[in-house]
Amino acid sequence: MSYVFVSPGKYIQGKGILKDIAEYTAPIGKKPFILFSAGGMKRFGDMVRKSFADQGIEPVMETFGGEVTRQEIDRQALTADSHGCDYVIGIGGGKVTDTGKFVAVRCKLPTVVCPTIAATDAPTPGRAVLYSEEGVSLKTYQLPRNPELVLVDAEVIGKAPVRLLVSGMGDALATRFETEACLSTNSKNPAGGYTTVAGASLARACYNTLIEFGAQAKKDAMNGDCSLAVERIVEVNTLLSGLGFESGGLASAHAINKGLTHVKDCDAYYHGEKVAFGTLCQLIMEGKDEELIKEVFDFCHSVGLPITLKEIGLTPDDTDKLMTAAKVAGDPAGHTKNEPMKVTPEMVYEAMLEVNRRGEKYSL
Ligand SMILES: [Zn+2]
Repeated sequence: MSYVFVSPGKYIQGKGILKDIAEYTAPIGKKPFILFSAGGMKRFGDMVRKSFADQGIEPVMETFGGEVTRQEIDRQALTADSHGCDYVIGIGGGKVTDTGKFVAVRCKLPTVVCPTIAATDAPTPGRAVLYSEEGVSLKTYQLPRNPELVLVDAEVIGKAPVRLLVSGMGDALATRFETEACLSTNSKNPAGGYTTVAGASLARACYNTLIEFGAQAKKDAMNGDCSLAVERIVEVNTLLSGLGFESGGLASAHAINKGLTHVKDCDAYYHGEKVAFGTLCQLIMEGKDEELIKEVFDFCHSVGLPITLKEIGLTPDDTDKLMTAAKVAGDPAGHTKNEPMKVTPEMVYEAMLEVNRRGEKYSL
């Protein structure tokens, strides 16, 4: 039995640091292959090119085709290879940076991740999700290595839509409770080992920092102020949430998110929003202290994460849809197997209704 903790080689976060990207990545290689989202190329392309030009480096810069498919990975890897690039940088949201990770694996190169939003915990893990041409997620791959560097410009993230930052808080909210579930059952984490004291501590720090700074960060981000609270939440959503889940573990909150992805009506809602609702369900199913459950409801309410079915596109009368989600979530081979109790689809269904009942009281 082994305890496993994984992390990127280095994590650097600061305001306005993207313009100095060439300096930060200089120890990694001499010829970067840089993948941008279409919007990212427009917003940051010139700035990034200049940073490298100042160091006498001409990077290969490409625009992401829009989906993390085998074809797209092949296409980008071919370009990186043919130019003799010696490392890969992904600048953008999760799909761009995941494609960067896949391209790096294909070319056997180190990768740098520069997230421009903090909506999920995707930047730090050695994991990436492959999609079909139609945009259906096919498989999550555990990659041979984590990113060499995660470079986070808090100012860039602070300028992204606030709902994305809040959604990232929803993803981060699950980290402590899913890790605790895994610890209580001695379940393995996604890195393939048991949870270290370090992993458990980060998951706890993730939650505590979220409660301390979450609401303030949302207010400040809405006012365009990249305050200390915003910087703390950028770290929570990116570093603590990423390390916490990869070296901690997953449980019902993400299983319920997966269930909700099978209901079309929930498609308009972000990963972190569904995970937040799943977290509330997990706490109800685990029979956690009422005081703690209230704290989590209060937090979600304060930042605008969903606490009712309506806020994820459903109603309590959508019995069939709720059961569809509950059946996927309650799959005995899924993440609910890491819970201290046996989770059935009926339990998930009842928990979703109970969360809704409690959540509706907030709007009375
Ligand atoms: Zn997640």
